[in-house]
Amino acid sequence: MDKDHTLVWQKCLKTIKKNINAQSFRTWFEPIKPAGLQGNVLTIQVPNKFFYEWLEEHYVALLRMTIRQELGEKGSLDYQILVNNKSKRIPGITQENPNGNRIEKQGFASEQIKNPFVIPGIKKLRIDSQLNPSYTFDNFIEGDCNRLARSAGVAVGKKPGGTAFNPLFIFGKVGLGKTHLAQAIGNEIKHKSPNRTTLYVSSEKFTNQFIESLKNNAVNDFVNFYQLIDVLIVDDIQFLSNKQKTQDIFFHIFNQLHQNGKQLILTSDRPPKDLVGVEERLISRFKWGLSADLQAPDLETRMAIIESKMSREGLAMPGDVTEFISYNIKNNIRELEGVMISLIAQSSLNRREIDIELAKEVIKNFVSEISKEVTVEFIQKMVAEHYELKVENLKGKTRKRSIVIARQLSMYLAKNMTNKSLKVIGDNFGGRDHSTVIYSCKAVKDLLDTDSLFKDTVETIEKKIKMSVHN
Ligand code: ADP
Ligand code: MG
Repeated sequence: MDKDHTLVWQKCLKTIKKNINAQSFRTWFEPIKPAGLQGNVLTIQVPNKFFYEWLEEHYVALLRMTIRQELGEKGSLDYQILVNNKSKRIPGITQENPNGNRIEKQGFASEQIKNPFVIPGIKKLRIDSQLNPSYTFDNFIEGDCNRLARSAGVAVGKKPGGTAFNPLFIFGKVGLGKTHLAQAIGNEIKHKSPNRTTLYVSSEKFTNQFIESLKNNAVNDFVNFYQLIDVLIVDDIQFLSNKQKTQDIFFHIFNQLHQNGKQLILTSDRPPKDLVGVEERLISRFKWGLSADLQAPDLETRMAIIESKMSREGLAMPGDVTEFISYNIKNNIRELEGVMISLIAQSSLNRREIDIELAKEVIKNFVSEISKEVTVEFIQKMVAEHYELKVENLKGKTRKRSIVIARQLSMYLAKNMTNKSLKVIGDNFGGRDHSTVIYSCKAVKDLLDTDSLFKDTVETIEKKIKMSVHN
């Protein structure tokens, strides 16, 4: 007896509807069309491969149960996937399938796809990359802090999808250039291979688009849209944390693109292994390619960044001011820029020259911990830092030569750079008396006269202290 496939599917839908919520039903089951019934194999047509994967992953048990209820113990399911508006058959895992579920690369009839970035009313599908053209490699200064990430980025820019760096996972703390670097890669690709579709999206925007598509019953369009992308840049991926559904959809998009040799570039404020609230399977995908970090720039790099930005603005910053800012703003390049911008604004508004004095005033708004004068503690801290010692070593009793020199130097600098008495200085060094301080100062002076290397060291430390806001 031949059953009618439409009828069978309608009955299935009834059961399914009872078992899942209305939204999921609308999203995942209403778009399905029954396509045929042969013996006990029901064929259903789904709009794309993603759809099929989603069903198999999330609804396999329900489907299996329903199909068997309608078609008996041997009942099973076949999928037809629309490829270029033609259909392609694949068996589902509801039917034991020895060949695996491999299907060919798909094409899409692009006029059907709704673009979540497109402004309503504009008919033509044109995917704007959403890139900011001012982020380039040219103005991304290289330093030890970013060398690996930058050169991996350059490689990806030359051969998107064609390097081992897929995904390229860029991580680092805030303000260290993740967005800049990721966009520079995108801009490079856009420039060098204009026929590739590049898209930059923050993970927040991605999430919102997905939620919107759920609301509008347009998850399909959302997924189809993302499958058109050749180079997908997702910024601040850590915001996907604890967003289960968005992670699911991203996982599928990631797989589709990766399988098809498309390039993925992701950024995050931490390495993949430290992402919390992110599914393990996603984290493992993130580790497939290269994870490269951006670290805080060293002094030279900070100075180079300032110089480069200023010269791009057609302005010149006095060298000592550049140095002064670089000494004081260490951990965040965005802050470095903030200081520069304020400085320029202050100088033009108040018709003042850009000098150290003005720089000090501006920097005070950026650095929280400021004291007016150099303190003995601060000198100790700077000297200890320089010699890679602990401050306690300077106060302690160790007679180790390197420590003794650092200790004597700290007393010498305290004597010369603060107006503290010999007694107070001595107290600060584990209760030594004033004659020890005098002796130390003399020892340092002697060494300064005879050892030019030591003299350089002292000058460097002195400069660091002076340059710091703490004076
Ligand atoms: P993140 O995304 O890591 O928070 P951004 O990419 O937004 O940081 O960088 C902050 C600012 O610092 C941007 O204006 C960027 O242009 C600048 N910047 C970061 N790294 C560099 C660099 N290596 N050379 C020049 N400018 C940089
Ligand atoms: Mg950023």
